[in-house]
Amino acid sequence: MNKGIFERVSKTNHEQVVYCNDESTGLKAIIAIHDTTLGPALGGCRMYPYKTEQEALVDALRLSRGMTYKASIANLNLGGGKAVIIGDPNSDKSEVLLRSFGNFVESLNGKYITAEDVGMSVHDMEFIRMETNHVTGIKRAMGGSGDPSILTALGVFVGMKAALKKRLGITSMRDLKVGIQGFGKVGYYLCRNLQKEGAIIYGYDIDQSKLDTVINEFGVIPVSNEELISLDLDVFSPCALGAIVNPETIKKMKCSVIAGAANNQLEKESRDSKLLLSKKIMYVPDYVINAGGLMNVANELQGYNKEKARYQVEGIYYILMRIFDYAATNNISTLEAANLLAERRIDEFAKWNH
Ligand code: NAD
Repeated sequence: MNKGIFERVSKTNHEQVVYCNDESTGLKAIIAIHDTTLGPALGGCRMYPYKTEQEALVDALRLSRGMTYKASIANLNLGGGKAVIIGDPNSDKSEVLLRSFGNFVESLNGKYITAEDVGMSVHDMEFIRMETNHVTGIKRAMGGSGDPSILTALGVFVGMKAALKKRLGITSMRDLKVGIQGFGKVGYYLCRNLQKEGAIIYGYDIDQSKLDTVINEFGVIPVSNEELISLDLDVFSPCALGAIVNPETIKKMKCSVIAGAANNQLEKESRDSKLLLSKKIMYVPDYVINAGGLMNVANELQGYNKEKARYQVEGIYYILMRIFDYAATNNISTLEAANLLAERRIDEFAKWNH
């Protein structure tokens, strides 16, 4: 039997769930606010043709909770939230639907701040912005922070360096072997950083044109996805798909470190992080290493400052070092360590009487 809404919400400790229904525009959306202890709940708005309302709710609850952890570990004064609009972004989207969603965001008085996510574009954000200022991730020309991918890639790069220092005691990436899955926006900029450091880059993308670009520009050595998993790499960097780390692939892996931008890299978090720990493969928690994008949009809320955003993203190195030390001291996985440290910061703020 499906769980009821109140049971689900109390189990995940959500503060508030808002159902947005506007028959005149066809808008059906859910805004989930998980935790605002550290600040307003920030999280993207996803538009997706969910088969059922239950499926949309589960996604909103899961994603908003993830944002709480991400903002906390990134030392941001933000909480976690997420919105989902039920519908096909190719056929159901309209200006009035987006502006109606903006109205609902506005009605929350800044408790929830929205941003772009799957099925939404920067252009869509501009319509939402017409109804509310509680929007981030807009174009540079409109006073926003623009494409976050460059800083996300920088975060992944410094995260790799932190893991290599901890795992292998290495500070230079010269002649190290890095395998990248996916040369989209993040994968491309990551190559640029790695090439400057003298790393040897292997990789695959299902899109041949993306692959050709990085072969020509950065000398990437093309391999198949299967080869990529089992190559004798220093770093495997998933920058495309979720659930790529699972018992099947872990069995074949020979890398020392997994450090990439993709969300939800582990198929089953608890099981797979323990498997990696037992194989001495250092897993860099995805939501920590890819927080550069969130730091970038968070910066926009105070008036975008590129230098400051870059400085914050470079700090991912030290955030990760603390996680690795905590994991080693307590003999737990890096993922568990990250979760515990993120929870600790929220608990401390909840108790702080200021
Ligand atoms: P993107 O869509 O630009 O790139 C993804 C690339 O992966 C594409 O080139 C695509 O062709 C390739 N790909 C798809 N399926 C593949 C497969 N089976 N094998 C190999 N390649 C495949 O996305 P992006 O912005 O570069 O983001 C990469 C990942 O990082 C995504 O999971 C995204 O959610 C996550 N992420 C991105 C940001 C950001 O700032 N862009 C921030 C946080 C997390």
